[in-house]
Amino acid sequence: MGLSGLEIYKHLPKKNCKECGFPTCLAFAMQLAAKKVDLSKCPYVTEEAKEILESASQPPIKLVTIGTGENKLEVGKETVMFRHEETFYHPTGIGFLIEDSLTLEEIEKRISEINQLKFTRVGQEISVDLIAIEAKSKNKENFLKAVNLALSKSKLNLALISGDPQLLKEALSLAKERRPLIYPATSDNFKEMAQLSKEYNLPLGVRGKDLEELAKLTSDISSLGVSDLVISLEEEKLLSKLQNLTQTRRLALRKLYRPLGYPTLSFVSGGNPYQEVIEAGVLICKYSSIVIMKGCEPWQILPLLTLRQNIFTDPQKPLQVEAKINEVGKVDDKSPVLVTTNFSLTYFTVESEVEASKIPSYIITCNAEGLSVLTAWAAEKFTAESIAKTLKDTGIEEKVSHREVIIPGYVAVLSGKLEEESGWKVRVGPKEASGIPSYLKNLKSLS
Ligand code: SF4
Repeated sequence: MGLSGLEIYKHLPKKNCKECGFPTCLAFAMQLAAKKVDLSKCPYVTEEAKEILESASQPPIKLVTIGTGENKLEVGKETVMFRHEETFYHPTGIGFLIEDSLTLEEIEKRISEINQLKFTRVGQEISVDLIAIEAKSKNKENFLKAVNLALSKSKLNLALISGDPQLLKEALSLAKERRPLIYPATSDNFKEMAQLSKEYNLPLGVRGKDLEELAKLTSDISSLGVSDLVISLEEEKLLSKLQNLTQTRRLALRKLYRPLGYPTLSFVSGGNPYQEVIEAGVLICKYSSIVIMKGCEPWQILPLLTLRQNIFTDPQKPLQVEAKINEVGKVDDKSPVLVTTNFSLTYFTVESEVEASKIPSYIITCNAEGLSVLTAWAAEKFTAESIAKTLKDTGIEEKVSHREVIIPGYVAVLSGKLEEESGWKVRVGPKEASGIPSYLKNLKSLS
C-alpha cells in the first residue's frame, strides 16, 4: 500500500498557493495518493520530502520494458493479488526458447513457426511476444549466428541467455538496438551483468537459488544503479514455482518488500507437449510476468493466448465492439437487418451464425456498454428507445428499402414499444444465436 492522502499532506509545504493546479495542498495530496498527478507539479517540495514521497509513490512491482517500438513487451506494475479486486494490467509475455546448438536450418524453421503464432479472437489480434536465444553449444559463433537469425527473421522481442557477460557483450554489438533482456545475473556474475545492463540500458534477468538469495541479489544489483530487473528462480517443480510466485507477489504487494518487487520470469519445464500447455496455463494465471516455452505448435499456443486474453481483460470493462452497422456478405437494400448489443462475444457469435446462413445481412450493434443481450435488457441499456435511436443514428434507413428489424428472441417483450418508437416492423428472432441460420433461411421476403 502507498501512503494515504493525509500522510502525504504532512510532507507538503502547506502554502495553498494553487500552483500545482489544485486549490489546496490537501487536495493535491489526495490526488497524489490516488496516483492521478505527479509530485513534480508542486515546485516547493523539499528534497527530504521528495525522497520520502517518491519512494512511497513507486509501484510495488516495477514496470519493466523489453524491446522497443510498438512490439515492445511491458511487464510488472501489477497492483492486486486477484483480478476481481481491480484488474491485471500487463499481460504475461509468452516467449520461446531456441538453443544455439540447433542447426541454422532448424533455428530458421523454428523462428518462422513462432512468427506465425498470431490469431484473431473476438475482434482482437492475439500473438506471442518473445524469442529467447540460449547459448547452449558453448560455441561463440553458433550463438552469434543464432542471434543474427532472430534479428533478421523476426520482429519479436529478444532475450539473450548466457552466463558469460563477455559473450553477451559480443551479441549486444548486434542486438543492442532491439533492447533485449539479458539473462541470467547470478551470485557468480552479477557485477559484470549489472555493468552490461547499465552500459547498454537493458533489462536484466536475475536468477537465484531461492527467494532469499534472489532478494539479496536484487538488492546488491540495485545498489549498483540497475533497477530494470526481472526475477526468476532456478529450475523447480510446478508446485514450488506456484508457491514461490504467489509468495513473491504477496511480499511485493502486501508487505511492499522492494527486493522482490519486480516482474517474474519462468521457464516451462513441461515433460511432454500437453504438460507444457498445462504448466504454462498455471503460470499465466499465477503470477508469471513472462513464460518461456519450448513447444510452439498452434494448438498449444492458441489456448494459452485465449486464457491470457481473458485473464487480462478488465472485469469492469467487458470487451466491446463499436456501435455501428456491420455488413455480413454482399448486402443490398433487401437484406435483413438484425440488432444486438455491442458485447464482443455476443456480436461475434451472431456474426458467425449469420455468415453460416449465407444470407447477406446487416447486423446493427447498439451501445449497451458491452453487456450481453439479457443483462443489458435487465440493466435498461438495451431498450426500445435505445434500439430505435440506434436505427436512426446509424443511417440504416438509407441502406435498405424495407423497414423490418429482427430483434433477439430473449427481448421479444420489446417488440410493441420498439414498433411505436421506431416506426419499423419488428420480427422476433431466435433466442439462441445457433437458431439464426434456419431463421434467416425461412424468412419471408421483407416489406
Ligand atoms: S503547489 Fe505545492 S504548495 Fe502550492 S498548493 Fe500545490 S501542493 Fe500546496
